[in-house]
Amino acid sequence: MFFDAIIMYMQTVKIYQLNHLSHKQFQRLKAAQMEAARVWNLCCQTHKEARMARSAWPGRDTLQKATKGQFALHSQSVQMVVQAFLANIETTRKLRQSHPQMKMKYPWREKRFFPVKWPAQAVSREQGRVVLPMGRGRASIILPLELPTQSGACSLVWNHGFELHVCVEMPQAEEAPGNVHATVDLGEIHLAAVTTNTGSAMIVTGRGIRSLKRLRHRQLGKIAKKQTRCQKYSHRWKKLQRAKNKQCRRAERRIRDLRHKATRKVIDFCVEQKVGNLFIGNPHGVRKKNSGRHHNQRMSMWEYGKDIDYLTHKSQQAHIESSTGSERGTSSRCPKCGHKHKPKNRNWVCKACRFSGHRDLVGSVNMHELSYGKPVEFPRSFTYLRPGKSRSRGSRADTPQRCLSKAEDQPRIADTVSAETGHHSDVA
Ligand SMILES: [Zn+2]
Repeated sequence: MFFDAIIMYMQTVKIYQLNHLSHKQFQRLKAAQMEAARVWNLCCQTHKEARMARSAWPGRDTLQKATKGQFALHSQSVQMVVQAFLANIETTRKLRQSHPQMKMKYPWREKRFFPVKWPAQAVSREQGRVVLPMGRGRASIILPLELPTQSGACSLVWNHGFELHVCVEMPQAEEAPGNVHATVDLGEIHLAAVTTNTGSAMIVTGRGIRSLKRLRHRQLGKIAKKQTRCQKYSHRWKKLQRAKNKQCRRAERRIRDLRHKATRKVIDFCVEQKVGNLFIGNPHGVRKKNSGRHHNQRMSMWEYGKDIDYLTHKSQQAHIESSTGSERGTSSRCPKCGHKHKPKNRNWVCKACRFSGHRDLVGSVNMHELSYGKPVEFPRSFTYLRPGKSRSRGSRADTPQRCLSKAEDQPRIADTVSAETGHHSDVA
């Protein structure tokens, strides 16, 4: 067929942190975001007036005319704010129709900052630099970044510091790696447990991420405590606020990096195992339940939505069909006889039939029946991986471990894990 020759592309966003900006540059970026906010506020105001007067709502043409030539931004950047505004109005309108009890408000808040966007055709790349135009008669913003050749639209975003988000076209795999079925069980301690219907299994630990988050909480707490002792917006307060932003960014960057690496490992495993269909269990029910203060805080720190997003995106790129669904009850049922009980340790031991196996794999194995309608055998062994390299022991971090999923081998796993994070007590 002639379709085969077409290479499929899909869009991903690459994030560049804009560190080490000069004071002047920083102020320019800030001013640009404030200008974009003024565009938004004007749209808001125009829309509100029309609503109050019960006249026709301003459409794209009206708003574009109203905002034309008044702002110190590239004309297309202004248009993109208008577009974002109209999209917001449309979503709100639909939500108000479908969920009238929620009483959704149309945008009303006066914004101080708004992300500035440039469409692909406005951005130009020179060697080692990106040129972002700011409109006729004004100097462009020039950033020393080496963007990939297939890059397109850019947006300037504030996230505890300036970031440039760049759309990049990525080639998609032409065909699925195979037709094996696989399921992923997402967890907090183990980030993902994957099993296939061919008897392979893998666990990626999420411990690195969790300890980074704990570290961040602790550090931020310390700074916040110091901040309570000084006057708000004072010199000292601002200095501490900057320190807080810096900590946040660093931790977030490291967490994001680990998350990408972990989900990459899952997809690499799927490609290697010739997986064509991937089911991602959604632990929504687990998180909604109220189970006490400590457990709740732990749950709110666990951002499984991002794991699902990353997995979906990466599997799409590898041409693996993915689906998500509830994983309700899968981790508390015996894969052999179906007896239900809550697991207590890392090792799942059935009270009825004496079956035993690694707890994290139980959920994933049970999901096969839920999603594909066919039960699978409990895998005899599995690979145990850590996402990325840990700080102190680089040489051991990336080597996959082959473990038997029998009870005798459990301490070995726990040992390696506790060697990394240094604490052992919260295994269960
Ligand atoms: Zn059993």
